[in-house]
Amino acid sequence: STLAQTAPAAPPANAPYRNPKLSVDERVKDLLARMTLAEKIGQMTQAERGAVDRIPDDIRLDALGSILSGGGSAPRDNTPEGWADMVDRFQQQALQTRLGIPMLYGSDAVHGHNNVPGATLFPHNIGLGATRDPELVQRIGRATAEEVTATGVRWTFSPCLCVARDERWGRTYESFGSDPELPTLMTSIIQGYQGQLGQPGTILATAKHYLGDGGTAYGSSTTDTYLLDQGDTQLSEAELRRIHLPPFQAAVKAGVGSVMASFSSWNGTKLHGQKYLLTDLLKGELGFSGFVVSDWQGVDQIPGGYPVAVTTAINAGIDMVMVPNDYPRFIDTLTAAVNSGDVPMSRIDDAVTRILREKFRMGLFEHPMSDRSFLKTFGSPEHRALAREAVQKSLVLLKNDGNVLPLKPGARLLVAGSSANDVGRQAGGWTLSWQGQGGPVPGGTSILAGLQQVGGRTLTYVPVPAPGEARGYDAAVVVVGEPPYAEGKGDRAELDLSPDDQRAVRNACASAPCVVVTVSGRPLLLGDLKMNALVAAWLPGSEGAGVADVLYGKVPFTGRLPISWPRTLAQVTVHPEDPGYDPLYRYGFGLSTPKR
Ligand code: BGC
Repeated sequence: STLAQTAPAAPPANAPYRNPKLSVDERVKDLLARMTLAEKIGQMTQAERGAVDRIPDDIRLDALGSILSGGGSAPRDNTPEGWADMVDRFQQQALQTRLGIPMLYGSDAVHGHNNVPGATLFPHNIGLGATRDPELVQRIGRATAEEVTATGVRWTFSPCLCVARDERWGRTYESFGSDPELPTLMTSIIQGYQGQLGQPGTILATAKHYLGDGGTAYGSSTTDTYLLDQGDTQLSEAELRRIHLPPFQAAVKAGVGSVMASFSSWNGTKLHGQKYLLTDLLKGELGFSGFVVSDWQGVDQIPGGYPVAVTTAINAGIDMVMVPNDYPRFIDTLTAAVNSGDVPMSRIDDAVTRILREKFRMGLFEHPMSDRSFLKTFGSPEHRALAREAVQKSLVLLKNDGNVLPLKPGARLLVAGSSANDVGRQAGGWTLSWQGQGGPVPGGTSILAGLQQVGGRTLTYVPVPAPGEARGYDAAVVVVGEPPYAEGKGDRAELDLSPDDQRAVRNACASAPCVVVTVSGRPLLLGDLKMNALVAAWLPGSEGAGVADVLYGKVPFTGRLPISWPRTLAQVTVHPEDPGYDPLYRYGFGLSTPKR
């Protein structure tokens, strides 16, 4: 109601900011000059769709800069069309405000449009890092962008450019690799997402989480239950720059539109309040011209109470705040901070300029509504073929004694293990819900189904075979792994296989030539388990047939380790540059298969 009372009259239809022939800078300047403080702070606010639904008649929601679906938050009609209807409804509201500034809808499309049932699910980043193929990864970005725009969403909180330095961290699979070279190389996904911003089928990307999210010290987390996630990165500035900065430099070069601040701290201070890193380094030295978005309630974690937290974060360089729930409280707090002079108007104007610039750049004013012409690409055969190609290229062959691989077509196989017939486990976290879930996924193919398709025969599947059970089979394929998880909930103190998976490997491998395939977000400790062949499949996503293609030798193994594979828990933080480096399999290692 404040907005309705104090806002001046609507600008004329021919106001310069509405003219697509003018430059982005001219349009931003014209629009900014017309905005009230309430309208500016609205642009800096990102609310969760559920929060907006809870207070549907609040006038302030009309002027929000952005709305998001956090961790799987979906409309009641959870179909691509249902999403497009929901986003278009929010957009209609935004367009009816005095200035008609379109809102930007965001979602975590981190391995395809993973919140929407039926989307193509690509391998998680760790698998893409193993491909070492930036051109492939760029095509994945483009395909994802098409499925995303079809539903009206125009902004993805991806790519995660973390350099994962300790695989006990629950976000290791969101990392392209443990050395800065791989996340840097894979910033090609940004060109895929954004293309020529403003062209149909493109979306805004987010480089996250700035800075040092993958480098937190074990036990340093600020939450009660996590071990590493949201923890403290204890490094000199030189080491922070050497290990964690290069991917962000590359992302800025690639023109990334937004950067998300990290929940983590650097030497004891929360990133959300680090003016030196957010403003001096990122916006100054690196020349980042897009906007910085906070992480989920990340501002609230700055100590000193909410008003201090908001003032500190905005003054440090956060431009848009992922509130995400009590957005009226954020708006009121920031308004008071500006009125009292704690946050200068110049900082507000800079933040709003950055947000509007991206909205103009991406053509949001000209094309604010969902582009349903892309619905035909949603989970399409072409996109699934691309995902299958990515799976093929992501597999890393670590061991192949006696050339048990490739498998012979038509071989009699015993298939075992927790992850052989479970697309939910293949897809991992950030799939249909924040944490992901085991079980079937619409449109997905399990590894077992893929083996049957490609091998041309029905196979026996026993999750944990009894001793001797594999006798008489040509080979056993034991697909072991982790259940899905996301963020700190995946932090682990140990990395052993589950007792059932250990038994499955022991029993199958004692009585037949055997291939162990790991479906996991990180290397797992194998202890004294014996096997003939070992394949790391990471979290391959919806196209399990890609695994079968390579096991049967239709396509050779080409993937290489994006992170070293430890022998013991003591080696999880060991890197190639460390003295005495001696993991079970080295970073960059990967065998090929002989021709059959
Ligand atoms: C995560 C971000 C994510 C955001 C929105 C946070 O908890 O750290 O990576 O983009 O939620 O869902």
